[in-house]
Formats: sequence, C-alpha cells, structure tokens
Amino acid sequence: MINKLSMNDPGFFSNSYEEARQRFLAAAAGAGARIASYENPHARGPAGQPLFLDTAWIGPADAETVLLNTSGTHGAEGYAGSAAQLAWLERMGAASLPPGAALLMVHAVNPYGFAWGLRGTENNVDLNRNWLDHSKPHPANPLYAEVHPLMCPKRIDASFANELVAKSAKLLARHGQWALEDAITRGQYSHPDGFHFGGTAPEWSTATLRALLSREMAAAKRVGFIDWHTGPVGDGELIFLCFSRPGSADYVRAQDWWGDDALDPAHVNALWGSKRPSRRGIMFWGIEEIVKPQAGFTGAVIEFRSARAKENPIDSLRISLLERWLRFEGGFDAPEAPHYFEEILEDYAPRRQSWRENVITHALATYEQTLDGLARWSRDPDSRALAAD
Ligand SMILES: [Zn+2]
Repeated sequence: MINKLSMNDPGFFSNSYEEARQRFLAAAAGAGARIASYENPHARGPAGQPLFLDTAWIGPADAETVLLNTSGTHGAEGYAGSAAQLAWLERMGAASLPPGAALLMVHAVNPYGFAWGLRGTENNVDLNRNWLDHSKPHPANPLYAEVHPLMCPKRIDASFANELVAKSAKLLARHGQWALEDAITRGQYSHPDGFHFGGTAPEWSTATLRALLSREMAAAKRVGFIDWHTGPVGDGELIFLCFSRPGSADYVRAQDWWGDDALDPAHVNALWGSKRPSRRGIMFWGIEEIVKPQAGFTGAVIEFRSARAKENPIDSLRISLLERWLRFEGGFDAPEAPHYFEEILEDYAPRRQSWRENVITHALATYEQTLDGLARWSRDPDSRALAAD
C-alpha cells in the first residue's frame, strides 16, 4: 500500500538532469535493479558533462510480463517523468509488481534535451517523429514548406507577431486553422532547422533504445507501456494517448486498465485543446514493431498537462519559437537565452507546487492501475483478446 501522506510529495522533482539521473540511479540500486547506462557520444550537457540514457530492470530476469516505462523522450518533459519514476521506486517498488512480472524503466530517452531544458535532440529532432524507416521516402508535408519561412524570426517580438498574423492570413483562409497547426506539428523531414523535424536517419536515442529493447524484450509475452510526457495547458491532469488500433485486443485492454473515458477521442481532444495532429514515426509504433512478433503490447503516451493558458494561437507557438531561436538564431549564450530557457521550462516542467503534487498523485495512481491490469492479463492471458478480436 502507498503511504497516503507521501502520495503527492513534490520532493521527487529534481532541479537538473544531473540531479535527476543521480537520484534515479541511487533509487534503482536501492530497489535491487539491474542497471545499464548508455552514453551519448554525440552531445554534452551545459557544463560539458557526459549525457546518458539509463535503464533499470526490476524483477525476474526471465519475466514474461513486463512494464516498460520511459521518461524524457521530449527532453525537458523528463522532469515529470523522472519524478514519477523516482516516486514509484521509493513509494511502490518491487513489492508492487505482479508475481513473476518485471519493470523496465528507461530514464532520459533524450538526455541532451533533458539536460539543456529543450524538447528536441542534439540534432533538433523530435524523437516522436523519428521512428520510421528512413531508407524509404519520408511522409510528405508540403504545407510545412509554405509555413516555415514565416516562423524563423531573427527576433521574437511584437512586430514579428504582427507580421506573422498578416502573412499567414492567406494560408489560414485557404487551409483553415487546424490544417496549419497540423502541418507545423505532425512532423516534417525537409527542414532540419524547423519545427517537429523527424530527422533523416535514426537518432542516437532511437537506435540505442531500439537495440536495448530488442534484447530486453526478447522473452516477454505481455508488455505494458507508459511513456511519460508533459505539455498541453493544465495543472497535472493526465491525457492518455493510445496509438493501438481502436477495437484491437491491445486497445480494448488499455480501455480496461485506464477506463473508456480516458481513451475516448472526444475527451482526449478536449483535454488536448484541439484535434490532435496526424503524426507519423512515433516511438509507440516503433516499440510495438519490436515487441509485437512475440508479445501483446498495451500502452500509451501519457501527458501530464503542464503549460500555462495562452491567449492566442501565436502565444501557443511561442515555446517552439523560443527553442528554435535558441538553436538557430540567437544561440545558447545570447543575452535573451536565460530568460527564454526559463520560459520553456515553465511550460514543460513548471515549479508550481500544485502541479508537482498532481503529477506525483496521478503517476502513482496510474502505476497502480497499470500493474493491476498487467496482473489480470498474466493470470488470464486470453480473456481480453478473445473478447476483442
Ligand atoms: Zn512530449
């Protein structure tokens, strides 16, 4: 049982990637985990320090039921995911696992973004657009090429905002608000200095995770998956993004674990703030591909809503604009940089107490639901599948 007094302790949050990593490693070692660390040879942190993706395997080595739990796929969003992982390690631990089941935690999938407080990788790649076959032609996004030049200001100020409103009016009239938002956020493979760039090859993070999961998941027959993210406007409430085919056994199982409402598309879009983009190359499907030949795969990208409310569509773009400006216009040493980094963190990893408490409360409740679901699945492996397929 979870100690209710400690359920929402904001003390699980760290103030830097380094601190989060050290606390994760110490707690994992304390939980008796088998730990592995993978250094990113292509990038360093703000103090020149090396950067690692770390994994912790807790439970039997030959477990056929495994919960895979990742954090920091989007860099700075890892503050919440890391705090959630630490809370599980310290408050729930191995005793909360179903008999014979294991948990594989992956800490800081994108350690560069985590350490710098940015969303993308060292190559400005959005890892949730990078998991596709780069030897084949990339998904087209022709509207992006029209929008891109409007979104690369030398300065982010009122005159830029006015200019963007004026210049995008025609595109807006022709395509509508959602199509423009979709073009910007769904992923593009043509502009390395642009928004939601999916890369032209597997990123180090993608290749590393793919290789380690191919090994670690080889014996698994039932895999649950939680990928912690943050973003849309709110105060720590959860958004479940399940990318399984609706109606499939995996999807029905996710409904069983987390509730029909949590997965209902209308409900999800309402929490998201708009209809979601039509993404490609997401990590969920990449991992599903690795696991699926031998195992069922039920999971979700789970967002802790985090950002402050925005007054207009341009304000909503601001955080992405700031990251791009830091990388390609002003540089990390620009006079504006400290303020811009701070503003980005305030959206992805706010310091406010209520948010941090809500994150921990919701994370621990979700771990419990998921482990309960995995326990039912491993006791009665065929029941949901028979009901669904
Ligand atoms: Zn994210």
